[in-house]
Amino acid sequence: MVFFAANHLTFTRNYPLINRQTGGCMMLTLRFDENKCLACETRDCLTKCQYLDMDVEEAALEIQNIIQGKDSRVLHECRTCYACEEYCPMGNHPFYLIVSRQEERNIPPLPEPIIQQGVQLGIPFRGEPEISEINGPVLNMGVFSQLSHLAQGKLFDGLTLISTDKRKMHHYFCNLMYLHFARISVINERVPDIIQTIAAHRPTEVVHFHDECYGTYNSYAQAFGIDVPFKSIHLFEHLYNRLVELKEEIRPLGYKVAYQRPCSSRLSPDKHLFVNKIFDLIGVEHVDREYVDENALCCGSTILSQRQKGSRKFCLDLQNKNITDMKKAGAQLCIFNCPACMQTIGKQVAESGIMPIWMSDLCRMAIGEKPA
Ligand code: SF4
Ligand code: SF4
Repeated sequence: MVFFAANHLTFTRNYPLINRQTGGCMMLTLRFDENKCLACETRDCLTKCQYLDMDVEEAALEIQNIIQGKDSRVLHECRTCYACEEYCPMGNHPFYLIVSRQEERNIPPLPEPIIQQGVQLGIPFRGEPEISEINGPVLNMGVFSQLSHLAQGKLFDGLTLISTDKRKMHHYFCNLMYLHFARISVINERVPDIIQTIAAHRPTEVVHFHDECYGTYNSYAQAFGIDVPFKSIHLFEHLYNRLVELKEEIRPLGYKVAYQRPCSSRLSPDKHLFVNKIFDLIGVEHVDREYVDENALCCGSTILSQRQKGSRKFCLDLQNKNITDMKKAGAQLCIFNCPACMQTIGKQVAESGIMPIWMSDLCRMAIGEKPA
């Protein structure tokens, strides 16, 4: 079921939604309250942005321009790091608004051929997936079925994996990466079908392997009034709870670690505390560094290809700054959760002498299991 945001001021255009079962057409609108911005004293969404140098006065002007559908330098210079979703203390979805305006005004951050190719890649193909009713907790791998080998051992006992078939994985692809492409319309067209596919397994709860899936069903869907008929659990919360259950088996690892925070975790900032809770529980030291928590740096995955002049150099400098910071702080391991971050900077991290490792593998090591 999709419903309208009746009591919220909405500023983006309506997105037509075709229900694949009924064939009916409904509209999705972003819940964004202009009054919150008028009452806002800090304009944290833009003043805290690590990539736009902006004071409160300019931020007040620019957010009003964006709300009113006018041009703004934010629409041209945004690096799509998702962080303003976390910075806004009012939960007002500034990033979703920025992306909506980028699409409406045709100011995509990426070159058009990359957008067209990327949008094509996400189309589900080869028929419908085989749906088995689980009636229990499941692990949703999303589009990362090739990483199913990471979900092994005691920490994943009792979870049934869905989306493990590589040929059908796009039926579970949350599509949220199209925020980097200024394609809200693509996300809104596809997400309700993905939700129906996951819900068809009749899960009692869904642990999402990727932050991006968790953010889709807990932040994005709510912002656009899309009903999600299943309970979602963040992977880190699941790992922490399982580790507590297995506490007797934990042997402190003693490593000094850095954590590469992914952009999508900005959509679930209330779950970020589980990073340190896990580290404390398994006896690793989270090194003290500059680019951490709210101040974390993007891996640069999409920045590298952005249309802004000098993006390639900007991205390489950013990655260098991030990894140098990890080294300076004495990290022996860099902990990843996002496959895109791992693919983008994992090799550079390793070349700098810091071992890249998945959070799930780190947790498995703590209970005496071999990392995948
Ligand atoms: S989006 Fe949030 S932080 Fe930005 S001006 Fe509005 S209320 Fe303030
Ligand atoms: S998404 Fe990131 S770069 Fe874009 S305005 Fe928000 S904080 Fe700044």
